[in-house]
Amino acid sequence: MGTRIDQDVVVVGGGPAGAAAAARLGRLGHRVLVLESERFPRFHIGESLLPLGDAVFRELGCRDRLAAAGFVQKYGARLVSPCGRRTVLFDFAEARHLELPWTFQVHRAEFDALLLEHAIACGATTVQGRARDYTVDGDGVAVDYEAADGARHTVRARALIDASGRSGFVARREGVRIDDHELRKAAVYAHFRGVETDPGRRGGDTRIVSLPRLGWMWFIPLKDGQTSVGAVLDLDDYRQQAKGEPAALFAAAVAAAPAAARLLAAAERLGEFRVESGFSYRAARYCGDRWFLAGDAGSFLDPVFSTGVLLALRSGLEAADAAAAAYLGRGRRRAAVLQRFDRRLQQRYWFVRRFVTGFYDPNTRDVFFAPRPLLGMTRAVTTVLAGGFDLGWLDRLRLQLFFLIGRLQARYDLVPRLAAATAGAGS
Ligand SMILES: Cc1cc2nc3c(=O)[nH]c(=O)nc-3n(C[C@H](O)[C@H](O)[C@H](O)COP(=O)(O)OP(=O)(O)OC[C@H]3O[C@@H](n4cnc5c(N)ncnc54)[C@H](O)[C@@H]3O)c2cc1C
Repeated sequence: MGTRIDQDVVVVGGGPAGAAAAARLGRLGHRVLVLESERFPRFHIGESLLPLGDAVFRELGCRDRLAAAGFVQKYGARLVSPCGRRTVLFDFAEARHLELPWTFQVHRAEFDALLLEHAIACGATTVQGRARDYTVDGDGVAVDYEAADGARHTVRARALIDASGRSGFVARREGVRIDDHELRKAAVYAHFRGVETDPGRRGGDTRIVSLPRLGWMWFIPLKDGQTSVGAVLDLDDYRQQAKGEPAALFAAAVAAAPAAARLLAAAERLGEFRVESGFSYRAARYCGDRWFLAGDAGSFLDPVFSTGVLLALRSGLEAADAAAAAYLGRGRRRAAVLQRFDRRLQQRYWFVRRFVTGFYDPNTRDVFFAPRPLLGMTRAVTTVLAGGFDLGWLDRLRLQLFFLIGRLQARYDLVPRLAAATAGAGS
């Protein structure tokens, strides 16, 4: 065993959730150590941000650093039918609660490194090391980790924030992770150069091309003329179609959507394809005795609405506040603090999940692609797609209507069918 360093909070993982938690705790004057197994900068998928993230960057005090990084600005997202005949723009200018109607498309290696550097500037300490185990006792938690040189150490703290992403350091040990069997998907993706872009400021928007059999492709413009392109498919389709061969699977997705083929006509791939699969899950509980789950360590929903980084940042801040309130003060309201933290993360998960599963329902996908505007629904939906998950009652009512139309569409053809618009698309 090596050194024992006493901290107020140990954060496992230095991605957006961990960096946000550490920056917050550092700014509050607490001693916080971030254990990160990788050497930054490192590649990570998840490049499209949401405008409501701006409020978090302001709260963290890193907005100016981000603005100086020269990332592409994203003013909205466009849905495109497979053949390209129908497109629907979700323009952030229409969303409520936004100070800025845009956000960034980021190279995550650079973005994550910037956030972690900011956490250090706020007073956090980072160590390159992989957390291996932890034990909770009466007045603290001891975290065992393996340093980059292979040496084993233990660090003691009053609370542990797990921001270890999908590896789920704490969630797996506590047995609280629950896979989402309704959202069994696989993604295959790479960076390209020379992808066709829209002119002007719309050139930074995300484009989502719908694929037959409820798949879809993302096109995310990045700086230096690069574009992140990926295809998301049902996991069973993925296994069947490509026999695990990513390039063949990607080619099949493009062949099924002429709109995607046009965007990629003059494009050159810059690196190998990467694959992620089975990535949707939640947690039965988001906190317990001296531990909190933040970001993907707690739950992850399909990437279709680019919610992952914003949810990670927000829950990172909330985990930091909850850890401070429950374990770094007198802790008199501990049970109430833990209950509130858990409830908030549960509610947000189910709220976002309804949108995600809606996109994979053929009838509700028709409504997403419907001509607009419809009774203010577009604005309510755009607000959610901008990251506004805490809506007033009227917008909640509009969303109910939106999903009701999706259910009725199954019987009454209330909006044009996407399938009709794409007939002959080569599916
Ligand atoms: C295909 C796909 C596309 C996506 N696209 C988008 C998108 O466009 N927009 C968006 O917002 N989100 C997207 N996401 C989601 C996004 O990637 C995540 O939600 C986001 O990265 C979560 O941040 P995090 O900090 O919780 O975890 P991560 O960013 O994964 O960070 C976790 C960190 O913990 C470290 N770590 C892990 N285990 C240990 C350990 N035991 N000890 C120490 N360190 C450890 C890892 O090295 C890592 O750096 C996408 C996800 C997928 C799968």
